[in-house]
Amino acid sequence: PPDVAQLGRSSWTLLHSITATYPESPSPSLQTETSAFLRTFGKLYPCWVCAEDFQDWMKVNTPRVSSRSEFGQWMCEAHNAVNLKLGKKEFDCNKWEERWRTGWKD
Ligand code: FAD
Repeated sequence: PPDVAQLGRSSWTLLHSITATYPESPSPSLQTETSAFLRTFGKLYPCWVCAEDFQDWMKVNTPRVSSRSEFGQWMCEAHNAVNLKLGKKEFDCNKWEERWRTGWKD
């Protein structure tokens, strides 16, 4: 089975990087595809407890994909939900772009 922590760091890097390069004004079809991607990602994520909780979280917190800033904010909230579950520090979502788009190193 995959290393859940390593898988997680790699996956968050991919997910936040996708939000960072997402259009400011995505077409309706891209928005539909992005929502479908997230649903499929939630199904296929190769950590079963993680996947189940993420799918449940998305039922209550429908993906917001109408703009880069909405999507980035939503992804940050998704990550914070996992941080909370694991007893990690909450990340300040005002800083998601600084962390993942315009850049700082941690
Ligand atoms: P990570 O949490 O991987 O974070 C990497 C970097 O992202 C941090 O160094 C920080 O700079 C930045 N960051 C932190 N929080 C945020 C945020 N809110 N927004 C933007 N950037 C942020 N692990 C489990 O043990 N159980 C689970 O149920 C579980 N569910 C997961 C569900 C999903 C969808 C994903 C992608 C991962 C899940 N993980 C789960 C893995 C877990 O979230 C971490 O990736 C793993 O514990 C390693 O944590 P880390 O402290 O190295 O940093």
